[in-house]
Amino acid sequence: MQFRDLKRQYETIKESVDNAFFSVMEESAFINGRQVRELEEKLAEYVGVKNCITCANGTDALQLALMTWGIGKGDAIFVPDFTFFSSGEAPAIVGATPIFVDVDERTFNIDPEKLEIAIKQIISEKELIPRVVIAVDLFGQPADYCRIKGICQRYDLLLLEDGAQGFGGSIGERKACSFGDISTTSFFPAKPLGCYGDGGAVFTDNDECAEIIRSLCVHGKAKDDKYVNARIGMNSRLDTIQAAILLAKFEAFKSRELEDVKNASVWYNKRLENTEITIPFVLEGFDSSWAQFTIQLPDKSDRDLIQRNLKEAGIPTNVYYPKPMHAQEAFSGTRSAIADCPVTERLCKKVLSLPIHPYIEKYEVETILSELLKG
Ligand SMILES: *Cc1c(COP(=O)(O)O)cnc(C)c1O
Repeated sequence: MQFRDLKRQYETIKESVDNAFFSVMEESAFINGRQVRELEEKLAEYVGVKNCITCANGTDALQLALMTWGIGKGDAIFVPDFTFFSSGEAPAIVGATPIFVDVDERTFNIDPEKLEIAIKQIISEKELIPRVVIAVDLFGQPADYCRIKGICQRYDLLLLEDGAQGFGGSIGERKACSFGDISTTSFFPAKPLGCYGDGGAVFTDNDECAEIIRSLCVHGKAKDDKYVNARIGMNSRLDTIQAAILLAKFEAFKSRELEDVKNASVWYNKRLENTEITIPFVLEGFDSSWAQFTIQLPDKSDRDLIQRNLKEAGIPTNVYYPKPMHAQEAFSGTRSAIADCPVTERLCKKVLSLPIHPYIEKYEVETILSELLKG
């Protein structure tokens, strides 16, 4: 059994992916081919924002957003303590200081109350200037944007949505990657919408920001001349091959995959509710894209034992994430290492992510469930 079966996906959509791939070979415009713009237009329309700019990966996408706003040394960026490393790495790359904030134990996403406490703390310390909140749509569920936006307005902070895992999720009618002043996603193969290598995108309604991002992606080029450089940028583009593959995969994503992966989550939830196992909690009116299906066991020894037993039964699982961000060695000795995040510390000991993807079969989920509930 695969944790996320990309091979089964390829076998299902092989014809359209192969056609897309070979048309890029035929046309041989490997950088900035027509498929790149076509993809950007389709994604912007789907998400419901004016601009989508693709780039090389989801980490660059975060960095591009922060560079666009001129974030750097002396700036405080609020980031959930329970997330993938990139969310805290990007602020550090541009010289700013990530301030790690505890999360909601049920949704895994940044806790708005604790966010406000952290902002007040940084203001009172007078060492750093609060600038940005990076909210992460962890495991596919959008963060609590209704509350987070209010806090950003109150303290005059910019909102960056890290939608690397959230693409396809929504709150009411609004899609993930539309909630930030700038929002980002990743097309890493295992993400909800993945390509066949690395890829990412930045979304924004702000045309001025979009223009800066387009410039930053290509060495800070001036608007109409590639060899006139207006600013220091990066080299961060999505290859035409990846764009073409994504165009093909996006059709399957919209028409089938989102619904199929949601069904798999229902199979798990139905059997696991009213057991000792805590199932993922999705807020009223929110829709997850189910990047992960993450359960909580009573404690670390239960979690580790269950993970071992499942492994012996041929069922792959992962611990996302085993370590709080503030405890990562990379931040040791910095202001970022000072954080009061007991919920994250508990979650790191209790969480276990089970296989989930649009191509998982009901009998496979049943096999996993019976192994899981054996002990
Ligand atoms: C995967 C991921 C990223 C980074 O994306 P890459 O394309 O791998 O650089 C950023 N944030 C979160 C929450 C992620 O899960």
